[in-house]
Amino acid sequence: MNGSTALSTPMTDPFGRTISYLRVSVTDRCDLRCFYCMSEDMTFLPKANLLTLEELDRLCTAFIAKGVKKLRLTGGEPLVRRNVMTLVRSLSRHLSSGALNELTLTTNGTQLAKYASELADCGVRRINVSLDTLDPRKFREITRWGEIDKVLEGIEAARAAGLAVKINAVALKNLNEDELPQLMRWAHGKGMDLTLIEVMPMGEIGSGRIDQYLPLSLVRARLAQQFTLTDLAESTGGPARYVGVAETGGKLGFITPMTHNFCESCNRVRVTCTGTLHTCLGHEDASDLRKPLRASDDDALLADAIDRAIGLKPKGHDFIIDRRHDRPSVSRHMSVTGG
Ligand code: SAM
Ligand code: SF4
Repeated sequence: MNGSTALSTPMTDPFGRTISYLRVSVTDRCDLRCFYCMSEDMTFLPKANLLTLEELDRLCTAFIAKGVKKLRLTGGEPLVRRNVMTLVRSLSRHLSSGALNELTLTTNGTQLAKYASELADCGVRRINVSLDTLDPRKFREITRWGEIDKVLEGIEAARAAGLAVKINAVALKNLNEDELPQLMRWAHGKGMDLTLIEVMPMGEIGSGRIDQYLPLSLVRARLAQQFTLTDLAESTGGPARYVGVAETGGKLGFITPMTHNFCESCNRVRVTCTGTLHTCLGHEDASDLRKPLRASDDDALLADAIDRAIGLKPKGHDFIIDRRHDRPSVSRHMSVTGG
């Protein structure tokens, strides 16, 4: 295919899945060190390797031209990237033009009090905030040094700015497992959905996963003893399955890469802050987009490289955690790929 055609060709992979959702990790850095995500002495990428904000904008814009309708900024912690709001502001032009349906982000919430109203002003309507516990002591234990008050303040600022907040919590054996009903009541009480996530075997973190892994099938069975859970038909094309909770009136999601295969309807790809495209979270596959991006001001080379990578999107992931496989299935950390 010649470059000018490739620029606007929609992205359909070999299994007939149309790619309409892009997740962009704008930095691999973070102000926290959640123990399941990073080791305490995590080595970060040299700053020189990062795409500039202008390059990230160009990359996102190329994907939007090729049919991406939903764009999520993530990281690392997206809100610690210097001048990240310049990128959000400039990407918001695609919302105004109607090319993009949704611009959103996943954040740990520590910087939200500062940025919530500007995010809303840029057309962001919904955000995901990761919070695994409401207990300040456990929060510090999980994040190694985080202060929960900053996150709670950030969540309130987001709500006050009119942003819909969804809480994401990783289900952690012996850590927050007893607290999950309370976390759900709290979130639903504030009109926020809650999504529970299974620990995924990504990156070396200095300890084994088997100690952390709590299957959500078990969590769901326990919750079902206390609450009336009704399956909801809706799907985001993603790994989450949702139930309605009669007692709280809220929605509860389960992201179960380990116990449920969600790959058939996968509509997403991920780009890292160095311009590497990963078409599957659970594979080592990687395509460099930085080189074609920098090779010319024209986007034709970039569009060709995107098409080639989408043509190689694997059918499904390879995650596995058990006593024989207590090693990362994928060597890169979630903070690099963007969770
Ligand atoms: N820093 C932001 C945050 O924490 O929301 C965005 C990036 S973080 C990598 C995105 C999500 O991935 C968070 O909800 C986090 O809890 C989750 N996460 C990180 N490492 C994980 C792992 N190994 N397994 C499952 N979820 C993980
Ligand atoms: Fe940072 Fe998010 Fe990873 Fe926690 S999960 S260390 S907040 S990137």
